[in-house]
Amino acid sequence: MTGAARHSDDGTDITGDTGLADGLERLWTPHRLTYISGEDRPEGGYDKPTGCPFCLAPGLPEGESLVVARGERVFAVLNLYPYNPGHLLVCPYRHVADYTDLDPAETIELGVYTQTAMRVVRTVSNAHGFNLGMNQGGVAGAGIAAHLHQHVVPRWGGDANFMPVIGRTKVLPQLLADTRDLFAKAWPA
Ligand SMILES: [Zn+2]
Repeated sequence: MTGAARHSDDGTDITGDTGLADGLERLWTPHRLTYISGEDRPEGGYDKPTGCPFCLAPGLPEGESLVVARGERVFAVLNLYPYNPGHLLVCPYRHVADYTDLDPAETIELGVYTQTAMRVVRTVSNAHGFNLGMNQGGVAGAGIAAHLHQHVVPRWGGDANFMPVIGRTKVLPQLLADTRDLFAKAWPA
């Protein structure tokens, strides 16, 4: 790599943080630093349902929640700390950690919701591609390892290049609410 050293908002040298790993990790998302640094982390952590944002999200009143669609066993919610605009998470309502913890009906609905999420994001934002996946365990990069969540991350050609620009403006809560409304309207009944 060439060029000047780069630093995050808190002064950490992040010059070497990009360029070697996969495309998803190259996305530079300074607005995620709060999350990564644990400032929003509830006392006692995310392990118990009472402190788990994925257990709490479906119960929040309309207008405060970023939930896009509610199924019988799973729901889709916008990631509060997105890698990219429109980053959705498909979660079971049950507070389970591991993919093998899902029963067959949950497994099927999680798959169907992932497909629907892709269709909706394509319709609304004309995504060129997606990263799909689950990080299993903290060691694999799961931020909230105790509650399973499937990432649906829309990708556009060149997004790794324009993300620093978007990242600097931060993803405003209002923008997330607007995105949620667009997705909720486009989600098939
Ligand atoms: Zn949970």
